[in-house]
Amino acid sequence: MTATMEISITKVQNSRLSEVDFDNLPFGKVFTDHMLEADYENGEWKNVQIKPYGSFSITPALAVLHYGQAIFEGIKAYKDADGNAYIFRPYDNFKRFNISAQRMQMPEVPEEIFMDGMVKLISLDKDWIPSKEDNALYIRPFMISTDELIGVRPSDKYKFLIILSPSGPYYNAPMRLLVEEEYVRAAEGGAGYAKAAGNYGAAMFPTAQAKKGGYDQVLWTDATAHKYVQECGTMNVFFIIGNTAITPDLSQGTILAGVTRKSVITLLQDMGLNVEERPLSIDEIVAAYRDGQLNEIFGTGTAATISYVQELRYNDIEMKFAPDSWKTAAKIKERLTDIRVARSEDVYNWMLSVK
Ligand SMILES: *Cc1c(COP(=O)(O)O)cnc(C)c1O
Repeated sequence: MTATMEISITKVQNSRLSEVDFDNLPFGKVFTDHMLEADYENGEWKNVQIKPYGSFSITPALAVLHYGQAIFEGIKAYKDADGNAYIFRPYDNFKRFNISAQRMQMPEVPEEIFMDGMVKLISLDKDWIPSKEDNALYIRPFMISTDELIGVRPSDKYKFLIILSPSGPYYNAPMRLLVEEEYVRAAEGGAGYAKAAGNYGAAMFPTAQAKKGGYDQVLWTDATAHKYVQECGTMNVFFIIGNTAITPDLSQGTILAGVTRKSVITLLQDMGLNVEERPLSIDEIVAAYRDGQLNEIFGTGTAATISYVQELRYNDIEMKFAPDSWKTAAKIKERLTDIRVARSEDVYNWMLSVK
């Protein structure tokens, strides 16, 4: 670590912790006492600091506001029954963050800042990690371009930040999904595999249209034929057909490589299911439904963990499910939760301990 990468720490005078109602936490609305901030300038990272959470002032010419060089991550930290703190697979998020950075022509963030900074920050705000079931400390690392210049080119300056939000459950009710055939989230050669802010802004209009029709999310299809399913919202999707779990493969670069997706694949295999990562067409899904072979559909993501799908609508075909009776998704959810809160042994070495 170079001298400039030392992390300076300024603590708050008065913690806001006692003001928080941990019995009724919303998702992503409450923030802890501290945040991490670092600046990239003249080709190097500097001013790495942990300081009181708060606003900063920006110039109207701030590059990110105009051309959208902005990327983020979502990670969760948990507490076990003895009060020990753990982060779920953060190294995977660190690697993915730098893949997003590269796609958006942004500088990579070194491990000493992302990983060590995150651990130091969480260690300082450890008392903010909720212990209630289905609650967690949501960790949001992000990076923005900070040049004061209106010109379409990569910024010379960037800011990397980590903020922490003690959060309740994200979304609990089983979802109604609409298969999207008009709008596209990502095309081959695009930035779909990056957790880049613009991808989410562009998804809001089609999603709002679907909501008007009574659906919660759209299930994206491929950009060319609108035939192969991709993912939905901020979740990857799994279909259990017969004894096989199928999830769309990542080879086209149009789907976000979820850390939860990867974990669920491991758990499904250990439960003895066949897991296939491959193109999955809506025709195959409809055919399986009609044969009575489409047993379960669920989404996977850090925010919501496992979300059941109770309805899937494709054109005028309405597919309905009874998630209450599902065995596999429920088992996966339980195993994932047990590992996260250390109720069962961390056999995969997924949890990073925070002292
Ligand atoms: C974040 C995200 C996911 C889920 O990734 P996890 O690492 O499991 O949280 C899936 N799809 C999209 C589009 C996402 O942004």
